[in-house]
Amino acid sequence: MSLLTVGSVAFDALESPFGKTDKIIGGAATYITLSSSYFTKDNNLVAVVGDDFPQSMIDTFTEHGINTDGLEIRPGEKTFFWSGRYHNDMNTRDTLETQLNVMEHFDPIIPDSYQNCDYLMLGNTAPAIQQMVMERMHNRPKLVVMDTMNLWIDIANDDLMRTISMVDVLVINDEEARQLTKEYALVTAAAKIRAMGPKTVIIKKGEHGALLFQDDQIFFAPALPLAVVFDPTGAGDTFAGGFIGHLAKTDDTSFDNMKRAIIYGSAMASFCVEKFGAERILNLTQDEIDSRVREFVKLSAFGL
Ligand code: AMP
Repeated sequence: MSLLTVGSVAFDALESPFGKTDKIIGGAATYITLSSSYFTKDNNLVAVVGDDFPQSMIDTFTEHGINTDGLEIRPGEKTFFWSGRYHNDMNTRDTLETQLNVMEHFDPIIPDSYQNCDYLMLGNTAPAIQQMVMERMHNRPKLVVMDTMNLWIDIANDDLMRTISMVDVLVINDEEARQLTKEYALVTAAAKIRAMGPKTVIIKKGEHGALLFQDDQIFFAPALPLAVVFDPTGAGDTFAGGFIGHLAKTDDTSFDNMKRAIIYGSAMASFCVEKFGAERILNLTQDEIDSRVREFVKLSAFGL
């Protein structure tokens, strides 16, 4: 099935206890589409960059079968830039700088060829833009999944609440779920988010895995304990890409299949953190992905 992803395509600069990068390619939609490209071959991207964005990366998207007809390149403007610094636990980070640049006036255009996409992934970007994308699709996709971040809870709360009310699945991290709902207990936070609109809520807990909530059902996926965690940037987006990629591939949005989808998402995220930026998810093989998924099955399987 076809998948449309919207979100930031960016330059990032990262600092962690392991080192520092200059500007490297990042952005929520970059990680999502690269990750989902291992699941569905009908991958479509809507994003905006400036003319400082390298053509070689656009070629990389194309090599991964990602349709970039909806990637607008604005002459004379600069690509979105974000920088962050990780704390010693690598699980928490501070945003050092966000330069919206070309994203400030992003007016997402949905090419005609994208109009019938079955699955929609609203990656991290301003909630007003996420909403615009939904409104500009002639037919509502079968499933709309949305990610967000603390910045939008702080500066665009009304837009965010409206956008959340329109989607099927909200993917959010634990800190943000607490900030959004003012609840500490994640079960209560998830129930409050579900009352805002989404039938399904996924709460990511970084190296402690992810929780899936729907009706009165809860599923927990661990994160793979890894010997090397180099850079968690984009892990959440890579997770989301694996999650929606698996759903689009199988065209099954049942709770049982969502359980499998969060394991695929967790497997993809486990690759992402092994190298700086998106490097590790550029050249994965199906065998590598399958064997990671088997490690997840082994990790928490036990008999009584
Ligand atoms: P994650 O580590 O999965 O939370 O996502 C990291 C990515 O989010 C980075 O590559 C950034 O470029 C991107 N990002 C950070 N802040 C924003 C923002 N305000 N809007 C859109 N994307 C952002």
